[in-house]
Amino acid sequence: MSGSHPLGVRPIVNAKGPATRLSGPPICAEVAAAMAAVAGSCFDIVELQAAAGAVIVEATGAEAGLVTSGAAAGLLLATAACVARGDPAAMARLPEIGGLKDEVVVARSQRNQYDHAVRTVGVRLVEAGLPDRVAGAGVRDTEAWEIAAAISPRTAAVLWVAGPGACPPLAATVQVAHAAGLPVIVDAAAQLPPRANLRAFTAAGADLVAFSGGKAIGGPQASGILCGRRELVASAALQMLDMDYLEGTFPSTAGPIDPNTLNGLPPHGIGRPCKVGREQIVGLATALQLYRAGDDAMERAIWLERLTEIAATIGERAGLSLRIDDAGAIPRLVIAVDASRAQIDARALYDRLRGSEPRIETDPAQLWAGRLVLDPTCLIDGDAERIGKGLEAALGG
Ligand SMILES: *Cc1c(COP(=O)(O)O)cnc(C)c1O
Repeated sequence: MSGSHPLGVRPIVNAKGPATRLSGPPICAEVAAAMAAVAGSCFDIVELQAAAGAVIVEATGAEAGLVTSGAAAGLLLATAACVARGDPAAMARLPEIGGLKDEVVVARSQRNQYDHAVRTVGVRLVEAGLPDRVAGAGVRDTEAWEIAAAISPRTAAVLWVAGPGACPPLAATVQVAHAAGLPVIVDAAAQLPPRANLRAFTAAGADLVAFSGGKAIGGPQASGILCGRRELVASAALQMLDMDYLEGTFPSTAGPIDPNTLNGLPPHGIGRPCKVGREQIVGLATALQLYRAGDDAMERAIWLERLTEIAATIGERAGLSLRIDDAGAIPRLVIAVDASRAQIDARALYDRLRGSEPRIETDPAQLWAGRLVLDPTCLIDGDAERIGKGLEAALGG
């Protein structure tokens, strides 16, 4: 909370987690220093990407890696890569997709707001399966044969959105996609921790995996990772990078792009608006190295400590029940508000915290059920105390 506030905008206490609308996670001093260290000089961006790509390869076990401007950008670039492959003419044409493979198959239950990034390329999402678990009418989700049945000669890729209980499982999805000669794109944006997931999706056969840099990794908010098969990552890079090169002048580096294997260089591609700067490239690579050196259990212990401290400051209060939900990859403090006894309801408590000074953001996902959820991953030193005070004030003393 200390330091100057550029533009006069005051920082908030973020107990929501690394949401984009709240500017992602705080970045640590080492990452900030690495970004500042490159900010004052110019570099060849292809060389920077190749160097960061080597860090990504080491962390993920994939053949190649690219720093993107986020996981959503990674999904756009991955889709463009699966459609255009190594064809510069196809790259030049997108999103005009007529004549190219223009469908991506996805389990209906995995549709989400971020698949707009996939559709940006001009493809149509073909939904497979009929999940009927929410209705309580059945037990089924999408099965692998339904993915197989949705594949057609127009299919460019299969999209798999990672999450607890994603159906069909990745291995089965990979099996039917690969049997049809198709790549699998994995949206793994928020699947860290555990750190083992950096490698898990690639190990399970995914051809391209997108992670957010501005979530658990603690990289710059507008950064991400796309990793996977070399020729697909090369296609993604060609469609994102500045392509304004005279013939024969594209830098030959150790990166995924081998200019000698191309018919020619495409012009600026569909991914050009997803550009990343030197600060994001170096910041992401530094954060990734630090993240790998960290430890899931130690990180979790710190999170639990902060949540326990917040819970302790509120203590026993009529109508409030506090519980640390320790089941998922990230523990959370769940504050259930019984409006009839607490003289406030969950929505009003949420609003009061947002209106406090400093502003406190919590996760509203369970407000409908009368619960406030606090995520510890973006809290900084002193925030647990700030939240305790804020809650006390909001609850009236
Ligand atoms: C956060 C998220 C994204 C977008 O990630 P950015 O790095 O913000 O672009 C995509 N998919 C899922 C499932 C996410 O949770």
